[in-house]
Amino acid sequence: MTDQYAVIGNPVAHSLSPAIHAAFARATGQDIAYEKILAPLDGFAAAVRKFFGDGGKGLNVTLPFKRQAWDTVNFHVGYALDAMAVNTIKLEGGKLIGHNTDGVGLVADLEQNLQFPIQGKRVLVMGAGGATYGVVHPIYKREPAQLVVANRTLQKAKAYDQLSEAHFDLVINATSAGLKNEMPPLPGTAFAEGALAYDMVYGKTTPFMKFAAERGAKAVDGLGMLVEQAAESFLIWRGVRPQTAPVIRALRRKAEG
Ligand code: NAP
Repeated sequence: MTDQYAVIGNPVAHSLSPAIHAAFARATGQDIAYEKILAPLDGFAAAVRKFFGDGGKGLNVTLPFKRQAWDTVNFHVGYALDAMAVNTIKLEGGKLIGHNTDGVGLVADLEQNLQFPIQGKRVLVMGAGGATYGVVHPIYKREPAQLVVANRTLQKAKAYDQLSEAHFDLVINATSAGLKNEMPPLPGTAFAEGALAYDMVYGKTTPFMKFAAERGAKAVDGLGMLVEQAAESFLIWRGVRPQTAPVIRALRRKAEG
């Protein structure tokens, strides 16, 4: 019987995960089906229980539920332990196991696809949602010279106006601002010479990418991270890591029309 997987979020209509996992399944000869589930904002845990109750094998979790997913699963492993956020759930022996592949995906995109080693770099991560929780520890393990987290809501992290004197080699936009065509309140001076500006939002040029490019930074979107974190989830579920480069290329071609 075909094993069932899905991505669960709100909103979720924009997700490319079904297309990515379908491509991975074709390339590796795995028999899986992968759908999108729109969970009500107050109904995440119930939707997860229903999916696995109906025979589902694994879920990807997207915004805004990654922190809630941490509370919903039975066990945490790997980076999910530190992240307190879960983006991949696997049913194993009747228990829900929570993983986090966002950080591994981001680091793979930066270091392998974009040839941008993190070691020794000054890194700023903007946002303090589930995505930030997932990536901070894997970035830290790559030994940056500095790692700062800034957020709009002050209680969660350093505020943006405390950054006025600072310069960064890598600025990661891990906020959802780009989805709404908004820009986090970042000082234009944040980009050091030769900086890389990385927006986790994908499939469009966001206001942050435009802002960064106008200040001389190289601006990229999060499509590579999306495919790399998906490949890690696929490995967790199916025991095989698919090749990512052909899928990234195909999605870029499609996005460019
Ligand atoms: P989340 O848990 O909902 O957190 C959203 C964060 O964005 C919060 O820190 C929020 O700040 C901030 N924010 C929202 N609008 C803002 C604005 N206009 N200005 C400044 N800050 C703003 O979402 P998430 O799960 O962390 O995901 C964040 C983004 O990363 C999403 O767009 C998601 O699609 C993307 N993502 C991409 C990948 C990938 O593979 N490419 C992986 C993970 C996530 P407050 O705390 O002040 O509300």
